Amino acid sequence: MAKIIDGKAIAEEIKHELKQEIDAMKERGIEGSLAVIQVGTDPASSVYVSNKKKACEALGIRSESCELPEDVTEEALLRQIEIYNGNPRIDGILVQLPLPPHINEKRVLDAIDPTKDVDGFHPLNVGALLIGEKGMVSCTPAGVIQLLKRSGIEIAGKHCVVIGRSNIVGKPMAVLMLRENATVTIAHSKTKNLESLCRTADILIVAVGKPKMIKASYIKEGAVVIDVGIHRMENKKLCGDVDFEGVEPLASAITPVPGGVGPMTIAMLMHNVVLAIKEHYGL
Ligand code: NAD
Repeated sequence: MAKIIDGKAIAEEIKHELKQEIDAMKERGIEGSLAVIQVGTDPASSVYVSNKKKACEALGIRSESCELPEDVTEEALLRQIEIYNGNPRIDGILVQLPLPPHINEKRVLDAIDPTKDVDGFHPLNVGALLIGEKGMVSCTPAGVIQLLKRSGIEIAGKHCVVIGRSNIVGKPMAVLMLRENATVTIAHSKTKNLESLCRTADILIVAVGKPKMIKASYIKEGAVVIDVGIHRMENKKLCGDVDFEGVEPLASAITPVPGGVGPMTIAMLMHNVVLAIKEHYGL
């Protein structure tokens, strides 16, 4: 039976550590703040934004939201980012994705001051990650590293297969595992013989965006399986990219959905906000 990696508990542990850092900063008169920009009223985005604001509140970080209408112009959105970039009272800036199709997402993300880019999407932060320099790291992959480390799973020397090559999850995930001295293979929609490739993985990280695609036949006995996927099924329950019931008996450790990678994303966002505050106050 696999060890079930408890993302909820690990996320709580990280937030507890951050709260202590934030309290210590408050004693020195420093109150951090995050600005969250949402365009339109997509219900899923509203839930994400509200969860992020609640996490800030629980940790004692001030959050400020800017809600812009669905038909806002790209220029108006860029102006708002410029205002936050120049505001010394704002430490972190987050633009909730996805943006409406008339807005160029890349232009928007590139406009955020890299030192306030708490999502870690700015090209300077992505480049810093690649060459191993200090910077903000994309929250979900950073969360996976914490899950592995805090579960006592050794990474160095292991063969890690990452399925998915998105800029937000797959690519930074692969770079982070490389940084931890894993031997990394990135698989994607054009990869041949995916099933047998996955069976060579000591650590399999799945960010493919397809409900329950990864079955037992993809798993080497004793592998660690990390499921980044999240989907709402017809019965309203959540599931991941991995067929948990089929895979769990073969794995040595596995993340559930919900309660695995999901809670880590917000914890690591809070971690990045704390990094941004420290950067701004030279701590
Ligand atoms: P994406 O759609 O941008 O990328 C999916 C990747 O999978 C692509 O690189 C593609 O090449 C690859 N792929 C698609 N079909 C494939 C196939 N048949 N075989 C091999 N590779 C294939 O998705 P994403 O943004 O990287 O997200 C991946 C999953 O993670 C989604 O389910 C998403 O909802 C979830 N997600 C969860 C969190 C979280 O906080 N838990 C955060 C971000 C994303």
